[in-house]
Amino acid sequence: MIELKDVCKTYFRQGITNEALKDIQLTVEKGDIYGVIGYSGAGKSTLIRLVNYLEKPTSGQVFVEGKALDSFTVRELRTVKKGIGMIFQHFNLLNSKSVYHNVALPLILSKKSKREINARVTELLEFVGLSDKASSFPNELSGGQKQRVGIARALASNPSILLCDEATSALDPQTTRSILQLLKKINIEYNITIMIITHEMSVIQEICNKVAVMEKGEIIEQGTVLEVFGHPQHPTTKTFVETVIHKSIPPSVKRLIKMENGSRIYSLEIIGDRASEPLVDSLIRSHDVKVNILFANISELQDTTLVNMYLQLQGEPSAIDKAIVYLTNNGAVMKEVVEK
Ligand code: ADP
Repeated sequence: MIELKDVCKTYFRQGITNEALKDIQLTVEKGDIYGVIGYSGAGKSTLIRLVNYLEKPTSGQVFVEGKALDSFTVRELRTVKKGIGMIFQHFNLLNSKSVYHNVALPLILSKKSKREINARVTELLEFVGLSDKASSFPNELSGGQKQRVGIARALASNPSILLCDEATSALDPQTTRSILQLLKKINIEYNITIMIITHEMSVIQEICNKVAVMEKGEIIEQGTVLEVFGHPQHPTTKTFVETVIHKSIPPSVKRLIKMENGSRIYSLEIIGDRASEPLVDSLIRSHDVKVNILFANISELQDTTLVNMYLQLQGEPSAIDKAIVYLTNNGAVMKEVVEK
């Protein structure tokens, strides 16, 4: 659907060379909601601008629907670009035009008939929940409503891809949620592939199925949201994941831990259906160990449950070993934690 192969982008300005993207390999498949996350300056905007050809790569190639963008004629490129909608952090609406006119604009530019335009705009405004705002002007709308207009406009020419450039960064958390739910609905009902760039891991957690983490122009980690959130490898990815999934013993609990009688601390992780089983309870009933839950957290990722716990186990060494085998056999990933 979208593929970036060996892509590098270097800016040259006033004698200074800036490598914004280095050797990017990225594949977005049809139906994905693909999130690209990174701190400011990581190269996210440059990457997304390459996908709709607002920028050209210095080397490497960008493919959309299997065809290299640099192989298209200017006219073909115009058609390809119509198939790619984009929404922005600051909405980019025309303030002097009504909501109706803003949404109609791409269709007016494509010289569609008035009847066609009216039918499409009416349908889209209904889809984004703004039927009653057709004659309002952007400055009469809330941020969330403005973004809904931006979304309707981006969908006007029936794209197969929607690019979202920090589309919820200017919105409050509740409005962000409603916009993300709308994007999910677009993905499912219109079968539109979505690529989102953001600096907020909660956005990725809420709707993406895949994620790439960027730092200093490179993709440092990529995979399904479940893989990357469940087992982040790179320190930066770990820092991002920790903003939404709490995985460490709170300092106030740490201070109180007493390591007596050969007790041992383990981290426990369970992903999926087994998370609903009363595993700790059955461990206590079937094994001669004392269990102290130091920390527990349940998160939801892609409709899958992720459980993280820290357990302090106390008992004979052989009893603790058996307890670990029992938990492991029941789907838990156990790692001993050495507390100082
Ligand atoms: P992000 O979207 O992750 O904040 P950008 O893609 O905007 O990152 O920027 C990546 C790097 O490229 C930054 O160092 C930025 O200063 C540089 N950069 C971006 N656009 C330009 C440009 N038009 N000219 C020169 N440097 C640029």
